Amino acid sequence: MWKISTTILLFCLQITVLTPVCEANFLSIHDSLLFVSTLDGTLHAVSKTTGKTQWTLQEEPVIKVPVEVTAGKLSFLPDPKDGSLYALGDGMNGIKKLPFTIPQLVSASPCKSNEGILYTGHKKDVWIAVDPVTGEKIRTLSMDGTQKVCPSDAENVIYIGRSEYTITMFDSKTGHKRWNATFTDYSTNVANKDSKDYDYKHLSSSSNGMSVTLDSKSGEIKWLNNYNSPVVAMYSLSPDGLQKIPFYTFAPETLEHLTGKLTSRLWKEKFLKHGDQEVFYPTLYVGEYEHGFYALGSLVDETTVAVAPKNQGPLLLEGPKLPPKKGNSREETSTASTKRREHSYMMLGHHEIPEESSNKMSPALAITDKSNNVIFPNIDPVPEPMKPNITTTADQGYQYIDVKVRTEQSIKILLQKQLEAQKLMSQEQKSAQTSIHKSGSSSSDLYDAVPDGHVQVGKIVYNPKAVLGHGCEGTFVYKGRFENRPCAVKRLLPECFTFADREVELLRESDQHAHVIRYFCMESDNQFRYIALELCGATLQDYVEGKSQYSRTFDSLQLLHQAASGIAHLHSLGIVHRDIKPHNVLISQPDTGGNVKALISDFGLCKKLSAGRISFSRRSGAAGTEGWIAPEMLDEDKRTTCAVDMFSFGCVIYYVLTRGKHPFGDSLRRQSNILEGDYSLQSLPMTDFYVRRDLIDRLLCFEPSKRLCAKAVLKHPLFWSRERQMAFFQDVSDRIEKETVDSEVLICLEEKGLEVVKFDWRKHISEELQNDLRKFRTYKGENIRDLLRAMRNKKHHYRELPEDLKRSLGAIPDQFVQYFTSRFPKLLIHTYNALRCCQYERVFQQYYYIE
Ligand code: ADP
Ligand code: MG
Repeated sequence: MWKISTTILLFCLQITVLTPVCEANFLSIHDSLLFVSTLDGTLHAVSKTTGKTQWTLQEEPVIKVPVEVTAGKLSFLPDPKDGSLYALGDGMNGIKKLPFTIPQLVSASPCKSNEGILYTGHKKDVWIAVDPVTGEKIRTLSMDGTQKVCPSDAENVIYIGRSEYTITMFDSKTGHKRWNATFTDYSTNVANKDSKDYDYKHLSSSSNGMSVTLDSKSGEIKWLNNYNSPVVAMYSLSPDGLQKIPFYTFAPETLEHLTGKLTSRLWKEKFLKHGDQEVFYPTLYVGEYEHGFYALGSLVDETTVAVAPKNQGPLLLEGPKLPPKKGNSREETSTASTKRREHSYMMLGHHEIPEESSNKMSPALAITDKSNNVIFPNIDPVPEPMKPNITTTADQGYQYIDVKVRTEQSIKILLQKQLEAQKLMSQEQKSAQTSIHKSGSSSSDLYDAVPDGHVQVGKIVYNPKAVLGHGCEGTFVYKGRFENRPCAVKRLLPECFTFADREVELLRESDQHAHVIRYFCMESDNQFRYIALELCGATLQDYVEGKSQYSRTFDSLQLLHQAASGIAHLHSLGIVHRDIKPHNVLISQPDTGGNVKALISDFGLCKKLSAGRISFSRRSGAAGTEGWIAPEMLDEDKRTTCAVDMFSFGCVIYYVLTRGKHPFGDSLRRQSNILEGDYSLQSLPMTDFYVRRDLIDRLLCFEPSKRLCAKAVLKHPLFWSRERQMAFFQDVSDRIEKETVDSEVLICLEEKGLEVVKFDWRKHISEELQNDLRKFRTYKGENIRDLLRAMRNKKHHYRELPEDLKRSLGAIPDQFVQYFTSRFPKLLIHTYNALRCCQYERVFQQYYYIE
């Protein structure tokens, strides 16, 4: 493996950093700096110990290709790590890897493929002299001569070599340009590659600039960073020049999961106890940025999936096939990472590792002839990030094992943690202490008051070992204290600061409600922003999955009603939450009476509607969590309103009532089923089935304007006590008693009534009641009115009823109502919907929400 990369490096790069004047000084810089090159052309000089960016150098983007891709035409995707090329289109089945890179093509050009493509290329080199302390560019040296950028008295200067490779392809028949690309790379020193001695492991994301650095011995997270653009290379600085450092590229969700796990002590313990293994799969991530498409090898876990787009034509690239499932436990956390481009045939996302293209298609033959096979080694189908993994082994924090032979397209890599709990604990302790000193706003006398292992930031104290949960974009939630009361501390990275500010602003406005999470305060240090929130005991998801201690002791309907009232409160303030899902509904800690309540939380994606507006435009981008997003949110032409929350809440209700099921099916198909409006409520339990179905149906309507609003949900009979149901039946019976059969209300009530009374309700009641009813008057078995009248009369005269009948009917109100609603399950919801015509009447106003 190394032989291959070495060949490439030898081929395209030369030794590059000139030995500086003062060795000792240089060495300290060399030890302390890490260089991170990102797709957008920025070189970040980062402190290895703190992760803080010392300076950046802005150069041209690493790859530039035509942004527009035409359906059917042959096109290419470059890999910004080494300039590898992938071809697609032109009748090809999927993506194919070409057996050469852009630098190799440039070196071989002018050349011609056996398909008649002519290649021209050129290479432009430049030396950039930089002050390693400030990052100031002092001068550049190139074919065009020397350019002084900035006069400097810097003691040391480092020279960084850069090469720009441009390749252009022409059609030999038409003479037209078919494609062009520019790839830029830093020159590196290939000597001394012993990565075993390297103290860190770097993990990065394939689609954004998230990057995590671990201690390679303990697996402890040293720092997180976001470079705002995917990382394409990392280097350390040696007296001989830049040296490439291996790093691992993951799908963003996989990186998130992994990061979350690595900080949680619980997980670590579990992991150490059971020797848990994490399986990753190599994929090729196809992404887009402002200078075109790119392809990056990227490791995924089983929860990263590609959603097949709805109108997938033959030109669409295929999404990856799903790796085998380990179990359902993580289904809920799955987020698909594939985005569909409406007007192009490029499918962004994670793809299976492509095959290497056959000679027929590739221009390799003609070039190979010329270059005598040295230039085109057998390029391994394993993407770049894994190469070092496979050679690096055992004694480091992780072990990567190649479990399948190379020729099989998918290669599993097992990641294993190997350290004992003790070691980890002491590492964590250490990290907690260093953090204290990092937090700019703490003063030394405050440390004394801070319990061991805790971190203080202004008024907030938190325990980095007590992770309550983790969210998106590197957000962590810890247990902590604010002004000596327990709280949850949400720690956000700089790129989430706008979310943090918005979250706090909206919380300040809305947390005066029993069912909206309470906000205490916000603090920042030079790395993070911290929000102190009311401490909760669990999420609704934990509750449903039986992970919280009060799972069986609390009334699900009451929790849902409380959540609905939190949402109604937000909506009344013009706030759309946009990310309603079971993880974002929290359950409070029990109060002194042991009662808990539901609280709406996570305002990161909230949107405030400007005064008088009822919808916001989608320019702000679709928000939410896949599988819970209302269909109109993904349709750029539709405006989104508070109804998006009601849709998600409909899914949440079903999820709670069925103990974990989703109306739109399993996590892989959910969002595409949502777009099709394809749902099923078949797992609802039989008790009160029709009432439950009615509410959920009214929330899952495809058409947002038809969905119930939160205030209407609060009034829905699903949440009525038996007593209230009884009162309603009685009020209805009184109301229709004197009506003529042609009155509107009776027509509404009796329409489809036969189904409700099962053709003759008298045949479905107990013998005791049948006998009793016969004594007084004749009841019509096919009429709902008569059934309601019988209920009303028996309730009214309950005290005078014979003992056996009382026993049969049960106690008032609960058993009595159930006697009827269990026999006539459609009675309540049918009557409720029929009597809507009377909603404005004084007696009925209490039962209906009137807009
Ligand atoms: P994100 O905006 O990234 O989704 P959240 O605010 O939803 O972040 O928090 C992430 C997770 O942290 C939640 O799903 C939950 O498990 C936990 N969490 C958040 N807030 C609290 C809190 N106040 N009390 C207890 N746990 C919390
Ligand atoms: Mg959340």
